[in-house]
Amino acid sequence: MNENVLYATKKFEDAYTYLGKDLGADYKKGQTGFCVWAPMADRVEVALYQSGDVQKEEEPKIYPMQEKEQGVWRTAVTGDLDGVYYTYRVTREKATIETCDPYARAVGVNGQRAMVVDLKSTDPDGWEKDHNPQAGKRITDSVIYELHVRDLSIDKSSGIQQKGKFLGVIEKGTKTEKGIATGLDHIKDLGVTHIQFLPLYDYGSVDEADQSPQYNWGYDPVNYNVPEGSYASDPYDGKVRILEMKQMVQQLHKEGIGVIMDVVYNHVYDAGKFCMNQIVPGYFSRIDAKGVYSNGSGCGNDTASEHSMVRKYIVDSVVYWAKEYHIDGFRFDLVGLLDVETINEIVREVKKVRSDVLFYGEGWNLDTKKTKEVDLAVQYNSEKTPGFGYFNDTIRDCVKGSVFEATERGYVEGQQGQEWKITQCVSGIFEWCKDPKQNINYVSCHDNYTMMDKITLAAPEASRQEQIEMNRLAAAIYLLAQGVPLMQAGEEMLRSKKDKDNSFVENSYKSSDQVNAIRWDLLEQEEYQQTYAYYKGLIGFRKAYPQLRYTTREEIMQNVQALLGLEKNVTGLRIAEDILLIFNPNHMATKISLPKGKWQVQISKEKAGTECLKQAEEEIEVAPISAMALVREK
Ligand code: CA
Repeated sequence: MNENVLYATKKFEDAYTYLGKDLGADYKKGQTGFCVWAPMADRVEVALYQSGDVQKEEEPKIYPMQEKEQGVWRTAVTGDLDGVYYTYRVTREKATIETCDPYARAVGVNGQRAMVVDLKSTDPDGWEKDHNPQAGKRITDSVIYELHVRDLSIDKSSGIQQKGKFLGVIEKGTKTEKGIATGLDHIKDLGVTHIQFLPLYDYGSVDEADQSPQYNWGYDPVNYNVPEGSYASDPYDGKVRILEMKQMVQQLHKEGIGVIMDVVYNHVYDAGKFCMNQIVPGYFSRIDAKGVYSNGSGCGNDTASEHSMVRKYIVDSVVYWAKEYHIDGFRFDLVGLLDVETINEIVREVKKVRSDVLFYGEGWNLDTKKTKEVDLAVQYNSEKTPGFGYFNDTIRDCVKGSVFEATERGYVEGQQGQEWKITQCVSGIFEWCKDPKQNINYVSCHDNYTMMDKITLAAPEASRQEQIEMNRLAAAIYLLAQGVPLMQAGEEMLRSKKDKDNSFVENSYKSSDQVNAIRWDLLEQEEYQQTYAYYKGLIGFRKAYPQLRYTTREEIMQNVQALLGLEKNVTGLRIAEDILLIFNPNHMATKISLPKGKWQVQISKEKAGTECLKQAEEEIEVAPISAMALVREK
């Protein structure tokens, strides 16, 4: 039987599913145990090196491994191996390959050799006291800020010293030339609760040995359980990247910010070279009987999460990050390629050690060739993964227009007939998602055009001022909607990704720093500073009123009502009797009659926050292209 077919059979799984916890290098001061899963191998050896750099000539010390239960091979080497690099040599049918350990927890430059590590020695001072500052809160209390490590600091105007590095993220007191706060101080002031980082694990598209400027988002995993070396001050010493990433997490926690990691288990950088696929040929990927890789990811390969040892590998990996690095949440890239059972097992196993971790992902329905019949973690299966949320493309495309049609208008740019849909989006209950805890509301993220670029393309006739108003209206809709809001870093300061020829870049995954960097100096100009203040005010308003953050469908059904009889295109909602939200995308003001009582305008076209901007009774006028929030006086 063909291997690729064999792997998915019950017979193979019964014979070779290993559930032990000792895979990888198990460091102890006097001895290190090595354990690798390599069913059907003829010979397995571990090779020890002094250097983690494969470019350096070095004759390794070779230790044979012994075949044990369920396809695992083991050996133990005496002595203190902390900092010693290693690879596995696996022989099958007379051919020998040498590769990194899928369970590597430390690696040398570019992740080609694993390193034995005494993890205790990589803990920053006070690490045992470090904890998630958002623990105990509800997921709907979160406001998530999506950030790339390098984008934050790489521009000169950031005033940050350690540009493009983990440690640059936590520099404090940084300013633009004119004294505007940048980096971490800015993020804290904005009021978000979590940073969701684009990939932080070791990825392949940036050469860590090359110091010249290189850029990539990092959706090309090489070592799943090791931080990326190019974000460390030294990519050669396996311990440095671990220590510095932990320092970053620790400092963010001290500042009150939770840390979410973007994880890309759905595909690997190079399927043929990926270590598990070398040790057990093709096992990690979905490959058909003819040897053709499934390509639902669009990246050349899809992960066979339905294979028992791939499932275990992903579960072990997520648990490891949550425990060892104190990561507070996981955003799964293209989770629609992974199966429901794997996702539920991840949630279950992580919750056993930490109940405060968030889980969500991109549940798009993709064309993948599963190796056996399993349900996939797509939006319409949301009820099968109750602890796991999904990105909401309904609100994304309804508010600002489809991401697939650059010039298509959304509600804020004047698309007609959207009132009912916007009401539904703000209410946060959908056919595919009946639980607000599973609803991740966003209008822009790293993919596709930035919010401001999309608005500029979809409403070219609008003035710059009107386009900014559209941006603020869009922000008000998703930041006040039921569910969990998520924003792209820099959206609050009209971020744009412009090429040298002034065209907008839709997919900047490998564009230059000039395209991707956050331009902090723009905050020195009024329109950027005002938009930033508006976002800050929206977040402050959301945090002040728990009625915007319900956790059940029942609460929403009971408390959120649409206002009727409004002018065309105008949307209004009343929440728990005492909050009114009005959205007016029209180029004309609209009058709204108010329910009984005295009302305070706290969000208007110009300003957002929790102070009373104006009192109103019976009727209020809502300005063109603007949002309004009113709170009834007690
Ligand atoms: Ca790397």
